[in-house]
Amino acid sequence: MEHVKCLIIGSGPAGYTAAIYAARADLKPVLYTGLVPGGQLTETTEVDNFPGYPKGITGPELMEDLKAQAERFGTQVRFGIATKVDLNATPKKIWIDETIEMTADTVIISTGASAKWLGLENETRLRLNAGGVSACAVCDGFFYRGQDVAIVGAGDTAAEEATYLAKLCKKVYMIIRRSDMRASKAMQHRVKNTANIEIIWDSETHDIVGQQAVENVIVKNIKTNELRTLTVTGFFVAIGHKPNTDIFKGQLTMDDLGYIDVIGGSSKTNIPGVFAVGDCSDKTYRQAVTAAGSGCMGALDAERWLASEGIH
Ligand code: NDP
Repeated sequence: MEHVKCLIIGSGPAGYTAAIYAARADLKPVLYTGLVPGGQLTETTEVDNFPGYPKGITGPELMEDLKAQAERFGTQVRFGIATKVDLNATPKKIWIDETIEMTADTVIISTGASAKWLGLENETRLRLNAGGVSACAVCDGFFYRGQDVAIVGAGDTAAEEATYLAKLCKKVYMIIRRSDMRASKAMQHRVKNTANIEIIWDSETHDIVGQQAVENVIVKNIKTNELRTLTVTGFFVAIGHKPNTDIFKGQLTMDDLGYIDVIGGSSKTNIPGVFAVGDCSDKTYRQAVTAAGSGCMGALDAERWLASEGIH
């Protein structure tokens, strides 16, 4: 059975940054990519807010760069999915693709989170063709400066993103399926007091129209069945994220949404030698650069833990 000093699960900015630091610290990390090598950024187009790229870079290119940097220092990057773990064992046990069993002294979890989507056919088509459908206003709002956009959702994320978009865009339609908002009172207040946000209550997205890019969004009032067409160029979905942490349930402590608890501003979990970095433990910031920063923390925490245990 293969034994490694440092196993990294997940290949977003958090995982690759952890790998860069762990490899340079001679921990000889092995990184399993998960189902979507490169993570959520491979589904975006331009990334303009990652420091170091003054002209911007595409999400897939950024991830290739991070992967190459991790490999340059000796990280073994392998395609595979961690399907089962026993993190309380010493050393920790991990099963890859349900068959390969391996052990590790330290595990850095960087499995990320997945944005939830409405599931409409045209939403998927336009999202995958970079046609103006996005789940991240901070990442993509800039492309819709001075234009009209719509956002779906009524939680804190939707409220925060709607006010962010309102600063850039001419008009923001906020589509809310009930006559109430789930967001905190303070966030609701901000939304309701922003002049260029129009809330469309009791409504669901009926369809998104556009061949190459979003042209209209049709909303349906679920109380009256009335249809209304919004002329917008961007469509933002902010109906929540799901952290990819199911296989760790019952072993690692998490909040009720499944985000892994980390101890006091570190990457340490409730199990010594197991560290959580990036979006799997962060529901607040969710940015590539914050994920990368926490990946660095994970590798440093792993290195220090190995030293404290006398594992060389
Ligand atoms: P939430 O789960 O809190 O909210 C999701 C929203 O999307 C709800 O309003 C929900 O409607 C709506 N929704 C869900 N499915 C659909 C659908 N199919 N069609 C239309 N609307 C839908 O997710 P968030 O991402 O907003 O927040 C997650 C957590 O992170 C929360 O605990 C939040 O407080 C926290 N957070 C904190 C921030 C901060 O403190 N600055 C910033 C961002 C998030 P309904 O209400 O009807 O169920």
